[in-house]
Amino acid sequence: AKAEGRGNVQIFAPRMEREVMRRRDLELELQRALAEGELAVYYQPQFAIDGEAVIGFEALVRWVHPTQGLISPGEFIPIAEQTGLITELDMWVLRNACAQARGWGSVKLAVNLSPVDFRTRDLEAQVKRILEETGFPPERLEIEITENLLFGNQPEAFASLAALRRMGIRIALDDFGSGYSSLGYIRRFRVDTIKIDRGFTQNIGQSDDAAAIIDCVVRLARALAITVTAEGVETREQLRYLQLVGCHHVQGYLLAGPVPVSSIERYLERATPA
Ligand code: C2E
Ligand code: CA
Ligand code: CA
Ligand code: CA
Repeated sequence: AKAEGRGNVQIFAPRMEREVMRRRDLELELQRALAEGELAVYYQPQFAIDGEAVIGFEALVRWVHPTQGLISPGEFIPIAEQTGLITELDMWVLRNACAQARGWGSVKLAVNLSPVDFRTRDLEAQVKRILEETGFPPERLEIEITENLLFGNQPEAFASLAALRRMGIRIALDDFGSGYSSLGYIRRFRVDTIKIDRGFTQNIGQSDDAAAIIDCVVRLARALAITVTAEGVETREQLRYLQLVGCHHVQGYLLAGPVPVSSIERYLERATPA
């Protein structure tokens, strides 16, 4: 048993070491990736509830690594957040997305910001400068934040959000229902859009509770004149239910996944103002 134990350690340790080294490598390489243009912005179309008309696009960052291939943001965003690179990364995404989407008619552009970005003193000044430099109209921009930001209750974060709204930028609350968010936060800080977390969407047809909660969220949001976008729509059945309860917008693999800018044209042909 002792020998076996040692054997396990021998097998296990190098694997852990590799994982630690991979993270450290990613951290060192992320800075280089930003500088050398290895990051790309993909765009996931957002649809009107009919599932036909395109009303906007969510910008999602991709890392095209020279040797490791495509690395998912789920892997490098947390590293960027821990090392303080995140704001530079998010501003890079915002600048590139605004520059690319400027000529896309009147469709909305949604961009994700990390809660960490809101600790930057001049965040709203940075956003403003990017809008000016790219000529992107603030009314077409929606910033997606997570409830962690509101839950963290940082006074500076509330001030930054208010400043962004005064510029005409819309605010979406991402991953709604996945954590501690409640309609209380939405009342306290008037967001323009709620994005129902894909965990809820994917439980439609599996769980009566999930369906009832979605119905309830849509009713309350509508009463507060807030737009509801359901994320992670993968089946016709989910889309039908979201239509039934009066959800406004949908996003998900059933309709379209994130695409590179080179594939945007076919979605722009289906664009309509929200
Ligand atoms: P998110 O903001 O919730 O973005 C939605 C994620 O769900 C995306 O993953 C998208 O590709 C994926 N998705 C879309 N439709 C479906 C579907 O029907 N089914 C399933 N299972 N998944 C779907 P992605 O691109 O890997 O991004 C993961 C997360 O990384 C994002 O979650 C967001 O939190 C973060 N992220 C991505 N880009 C940025 C960025 O530029 N800045 C920051 N701060 N975070 C970003
Ligand atoms: Ca998002
Ligand atoms: Ca989300
Ligand atoms: Ca998320």
